[in-house]
Amino acid sequence: MHAARSIAQPFALFSALLCATLLAATPALAQTAKPNVVIVATGGTIAGAGASSANSATYQAAKVPVDQLIASVPELANIANVRGEQAFQIASESFTNEKLVQLGRRIAQLVKDPAVDGVVVTHGTDTLEETSYFLNLVIHTDKPIVVVGSMRPGTAMSADGALNLYDAAVVAGSKEARSKGVLVVMNDEIHSGRDVTKRINIKTNAFFSQWGPLGLVVEGKTYWFRLPVKTHTAQSEFDIERITALADAQIVYASGNMNPAMYDTAATTGAKAIIHAGTGNGSVADYVVEKLKTLRARGIHIIRSARVPDGLVLRNSEQPDDKYDWIVAHDLNPQKARILAAVALTKTSDSRELQRIFWQY
Ligand code: GLU
Repeated sequence: MHAARSIAQPFALFSALLCATLLAATPALAQTAKPNVVIVATGGTIAGAGASSANSATYQAAKVPVDQLIASVPELANIANVRGEQAFQIASESFTNEKLVQLGRRIAQLVKDPAVDGVVVTHGTDTLEETSYFLNLVIHTDKPIVVVGSMRPGTAMSADGALNLYDAAVVAGSKEARSKGVLVVMNDEIHSGRDVTKRINIKTNAFFSQWGPLGLVVEGKTYWFRLPVKTHTAQSEFDIERITALADAQIVYASGNMNPAMYDTAATTGAKAIIHAGTGNGSVADYVVEKLKTLRARGIHIIRSARVPDGLVLRNSEQPDDKYDWIVAHDLNPQKARILAAVALTKTSDSRELQRIFWQY
């Protein structure tokens, strides 16, 4: 009995010491377990600079290099091991299909690296919705890819870039953001890269999703409320590693008194699909219908979308799509429809298949 106690007492003391050591070591352990996030910079206002702090709307985009951008937000080091890559230094209206493919291929390489937990893409806000949807369609990964921009340059009063970048890195490094498709973080909100669109070109609450944001990011913590149901990333049938070039798809904007010859320009310069940014429910003027039927007979796909913000084009309403062999973009706005057409046409030119893809993605 006496012998048993003499063994048990030092053992208990050892266990207590071990527990205390482990507890003391936990914060250090947590620190070394910070996620590895790569920031791929492409330009835009988040890398912009103005002449004075009062210039919130007049400035030059795409000026500040990625390392300077990262250095300007020292708080990033508290939440992730961050490193930067400069993919481009452009205003996002100058993105081309070639640049999208180049960016997609680089991101696909990064997410394959076991040492990378997530990727942030800094981007101009003008075509951010196009790039985020494109990446959502073609990158096979469950790791978070977060596209971010800002509405004011870093030199402006109340610049929004620093917090947006910090929030984007939080989301890119979080386990909760996995398998949710490509995300867009702006103004405290987490949006699906598929749904989000730029609604206003001045204020910081510029980004909006018709079906609502997926979540919020507040003080370094994510809060989630919904999931996207459309197919994306790891489940997508499109893979950037098998895509070398996107198809040419062009948008023609409809209005009263429009000139039907606008469609000819797209057709004669090589468009494989024309996105009709239609009035209302993707409606087509009576004097334009024949033009679109003729172009379809020449093999060019006609995709009816709506120029109405939050428009929804229904098949065989307004126009007999089955009869004319046209496609409807449903809830995709014209610029999103252009991206999906450019990607889908790398795989099929069958109109039924294309319509199936438009319902699914
Ligand atoms: N037009 C520029 C761009 O899209 C600046 C707009 C912005 O980033 O907010 O890159």
